[in-house]
Amino acid sequence: MQSQAAQSVSVLGSTGSIGVSTLDVLARHPQRYAVHALTARGRIAELAQQCRRFKPRFAVVATEKGAAELRQLLADESSSVEILWGSEGLCQVASDPQVDVVMAAIVGAAGLRPTLAAVEAGKKVLLANKEALVMAGPVFMRALARSGARLLPIDSEHNAIFQCLPQPCASLEEAGVEKILLTGSGGPFRTRAVSDLHRVTPDEACAHPNWSMGRKISVDSATMMNKGLEFIEACLLFNARPEQIEVVVHPQSIVHSMVQYRDGSLLAQMGNPDMRTPIAHALAFPERIDSGVAALDLIAQGRLDFEAPDIQRFPCLRLAREAMDAGGSAPAVLNAANEVAVEAFLEGKLAFTSIPAVIEQVMKSAQVVELTGLDAVETADCNARLQARQVLEAL
Ligand code: NAD
Ligand code: MG
Repeated sequence: MQSQAAQSVSVLGSTGSIGVSTLDVLARHPQRYAVHALTARGRIAELAQQCRRFKPRFAVVATEKGAAELRQLLADESSSVEILWGSEGLCQVASDPQVDVVMAAIVGAAGLRPTLAAVEAGKKVLLANKEALVMAGPVFMRALARSGARLLPIDSEHNAIFQCLPQPCASLEEAGVEKILLTGSGGPFRTRAVSDLHRVTPDEACAHPNWSMGRKISVDSATMMNKGLEFIEACLLFNARPEQIEVVVHPQSIVHSMVQYRDGSLLAQMGNPDMRTPIAHALAFPERIDSGVAALDLIAQGRLDFEAPDIQRFPCLRLAREAMDAGGSAPAVLNAANEVAVEAFLEGKLAFTSIPAVIEQVMKSAQVVELTGLDAVETADCNARLQARQVLEAL
């Protein structure tokens, strides 16, 4: 590898949980990877630190004010990082001809445009930003087919499924796949009394038993909307029918997902719950590189448990299935309503148990339309957000 030129990587959302893990893996392989761009919305001081260490060509922030702040922080540096801001800056560093690999690790719908820009520019796209795929499903997949970009899943479950499938995999049918078993830990409230759930706090919801993650996805894990979004993500990524995907609760998060074959074989990908494994896998695929993650000690682990999900406790699982069945703009509506409801919960303005109630109400009142292009996706997203805010106000 040392004789080849380093691959140029843009890390979108570099200050987040996935972004920091990505930089940790990249730093282990300086001959193999060079950082082209780093981006963040807040935490400008942290972004400045990352710029000093990784010396990217570009840094992108959300606002002009943020750009001025970063410029000030880097004023004394000899490195000449060019500072951009806003969605245009993100799209530029995602599609720049000099870039080989884009890590899409912005959280939520804000990541849609830059992720699509990377796909349209035919990059190798490492997809952590599941919301972008869920909301834009058919538009996203058409862009992928058109551009020939390579999409590699970072979500640990989808990365595991990818690893358990033959590559390339033209179709599940041809590969002899009967079913995909999507595992989920059940989050921090798997065994909490249902009658207590209305008063759990944001900090309790964000205290995931196995994974350390950003706050939005942590709440999604607590409601199991994360598994709902991942169910839609899996249908899209692997061209699977909804009935081919079964959610299995596995509290230890050691088995990251499984693929069941026609001959009775069940293949599982296992490892310690650390996102650097799927990140390193996707970065180097089809090669394997060191990720910094310790090997799994099965004897110390002792046992692995599996159980069926409790649909009464986790209505978000049902809502995601309904959105997938409805098709068109329904997953975009589900995602937008969820983002608004989770934000309200994190701000202490909504009870945990009202998150699914808000989403369900928005889904009931939204008209399902076909997603003809990015405009249709953004309109559905925008309308659902307005509707969700109205539902919140009426509560
Ligand atoms: P995070 O909140 O820790 O980080 C989000 C990053 O996106 C930050 O760098 C932030 O500055 C940036 N960002 C947020 N809003 C933005 C905006 N409006 N414009 C531009 N940048 C913005 O989140 P995370 O846990 O790293 O998750 C990132 C994505 O990866 C999410 O889509 C999540 O579902 C997915 N994911 C995360 C994990 C995990 O272990 N953390 C696992 C699987 C999938
Ligand atoms: Mg996941």
